[in-house]
Amino acid sequence: MHLINADLHCHSNVSDGTLTPEALAQRAHAHGVELWSLTDHDELGGQQRARDAALALGMDYLTGTEISVTFAGITVHIVGLGFDADDEALNAGLAATRSGRRERARQMAEGLAKVGITGAYEGAQRYVGNPELISRTHFARFLVESGVCADTHAVFRSYLTEGHPGFVPHGWARLGDAVRWIREAGGIAVIAHPGRYRFTPTEEYALFTEFIGHGGQAVEVMTGSHSAAEHIRYADTAIEFGLLASRGSDFHSPGESRTELGSLPDLPGRLTPVWEALQTRVQRALP
Ligand code: AMP
Ligand code: MN
Ligand code: MN
Ligand code: MN
Repeated sequence: MHLINADLHCHSNVSDGTLTPEALAQRAHAHGVELWSLTDHDELGGQQRARDAALALGMDYLTGTEISVTFAGITVHIVGLGFDADDEALNAGLAATRSGRRERARQMAEGLAKVGITGAYEGAQRYVGNPELISRTHFARFLVESGVCADTHAVFRSYLTEGHPGFVPHGWARLGDAVRWIREAGGIAVIAHPGRYRFTPTEEYALFTEFIGHGGQAVEVMTGSHSAAEHIRYADTAIEFGLLASRGSDFHSPGESRTELGSLPDLPGRLTPVWEALQTRVQRALP
């Protein structure tokens, strides 16, 4: 059976990617993507542009976003796919989730100033494409530009993660709220890159069971953040919990992202792709 090349996770400059939605659509298409979704963090501002560009290129489209959630004190990302982008409750929930980012960024800059890195708020601002969506990634790009670190991964390791000077704990949306916003807008909620979270096995089990209890239906099995072993491990998790499976590169920027759009291995044949349950939500390019 031919599995379509679906890439249902990536970021434009409407959040913390560097390409416009249009340039990203072109890049996805050039790399063979047949079904695409732009999933900017906590934000739908790029959806119309992404959809129009995708359909013009002959690529099918699903609406998307990646919601920041705090679960058991840890930040978890929930991807939403195939929802109605005009849904009021979803838009209000995302606006509330975005609202603390500016103040958090000021505090991050204060933390960095204490270790001698000055001007980080203004520096990060230069990389921001959307004033409501300043993220750690924009700080990372500024610190690379300033020569503090060789690449953005090194910045996260030494400055922007827990226990380091630029890290500021933040309360994001609640898991149940994020799943409900997506579902009630007609979409499917997906646990993004589960291998990235530092949960104990008990906490991870609680994440999956509570997610399902709230109506979550899918897990990202194939993602640029997973190792080959994690691809297998979370394929098993999808089966164990009866979840649909998703595939997405989490592409942010040429040169920064390890995984190119459309280039992950196919989902293992034993899994049910999330897009099979979203057939009526796909916005199709005309033949
Ligand atoms: P924020 O929403 O401001 O907390 O920023 C989270 C974003 O930072 C993620 O979506 C990734 O794009 C990026 N990120 C997180 N951890 C790392 C890492 N270790 N290396 C590179 N980028 C990272
Ligand atoms: Mn990101
Ligand atoms: Mn993420
Ligand atoms: Mn992402």
